[in-house]
Amino acid sequence: MAGLFIKRTEHSSALLPSVNRIDSTVTKLSSSPLSKLGEFGLISRIAGRVSGHESVVTGIGDDAAVTALSTGMQLLTSTDMLLEDVHFRRAWHDPYRLGRKSLAVSISDIAAMGGIPRWALLSLAIPAGLSLDFIDDFMRGFLGMAAENQVFLIGGDTCSSRSGLTLSVTIMGEQYPDLIVRRSGALPDDDIWVTGTLGDAALGLKVAEEAGSCRPAGDTSSLCCPPGPPGLEGPDTLLSRLLDPTPRVAVGRLLAEAGLVSAMVDISDGVLADFGHIAEQSGVGGCIRIDDLPLSVDFRSQTAALAAIPYQLALSGGEDYELCFTACRSNREKIIDCVKKSGIAVTRIGIVSSSLEVTAVSFDGRPYNNGTDGFNHFT
Ligand SMILES: [Mg+2]
Repeated sequence: MAGLFIKRTEHSSALLPSVNRIDSTVTKLSSSPLSKLGEFGLISRIAGRVSGHESVVTGIGDDAAVTALSTGMQLLTSTDMLLEDVHFRRAWHDPYRLGRKSLAVSISDIAAMGGIPRWALLSLAIPAGLSLDFIDDFMRGFLGMAAENQVFLIGGDTCSSRSGLTLSVTIMGEQYPDLIVRRSGALPDDDIWVTGTLGDAALGLKVAEEAGSCRPAGDTSSLCCPPGPPGLEGPDTLLSRLLDPTPRVAVGRLLAEAGLVSAMVDISDGVLADFGHIAEQSGVGGCIRIDDLPLSVDFRSQTAALAAIPYQLALSGGEDYELCFTACRSNREKIIDCVKKSGIAVTRIGIVSSSLEVTAVSFDGRPYNNGTDGFNHFT
């Protein structure tokens, strides 16, 4: 049997014995409904909710999953870890949206390559005391996001955790070799584009931080958001961008399959840092015009009272999960036409340069002092 959670025993006894051993700390689980259900009960519970697909030859239940790539396509694989209090807080993130987001951020990496997301592996390190309701709601979110993107859960792993909830998602997708878009193809004088709007998630985080935790950790009721100005849904919408991001799969595929873009990346750490990855991989630089950054109506209304627009949230805030791509200037109109059917706007925000430097400038051409170049886990 493979797939979901099955490999824990072999894996942990050989390599990570302390993770799997039931000792005085971990035995707290024994009184919870989750422990009564047991590891294999949990596996069955999750497996019972997973739908099959012709591409999944052998899914959950064997030593390894077997999947069938579409003829002529290559496999795209990416993995992400989400750690409690590093990437999410249980006090803010209800389990349903945490489940959705944990898969969405991985799907976003496939979207960034112009790929078609297909299969996912999910591993969970579960702290003592986490309720079965939490896991059920988490899986409802995870499998809902999977269904929306025609992704099939084919396996994973589970163990106990002594330091918070840890989620690991591996996503696999596919695409024809000639259509896969890498970070390394940007050329000097290409336009720099982004999808959607930027800074909403970062502003949502700021609003949530300033409001403090609205409900106790572990409470699975709906997130309580600070009220916005009358008649505006600003905070709710901004928080939704943070807590329940939408991977831009359709736009990524449309652009890749039309052959219109030279490089692409998803924006997880802020457009300045993520375009920086394109610049580094392509051996180029670029100039981003802050006045051209697409800001949502909610972002503008929430920041209207400030002396200056906080462009740094849009440049470096992170967690937007939009796409940043580069394209030849001659493709401008074709790009606008191409993405129309996705319903997602695209905006030109700058120009690729040969100088190797990545800068942000104001409308008058003066350098914009951003103060930070993106979220970095090691600072
Ligand atoms: Mg990425």
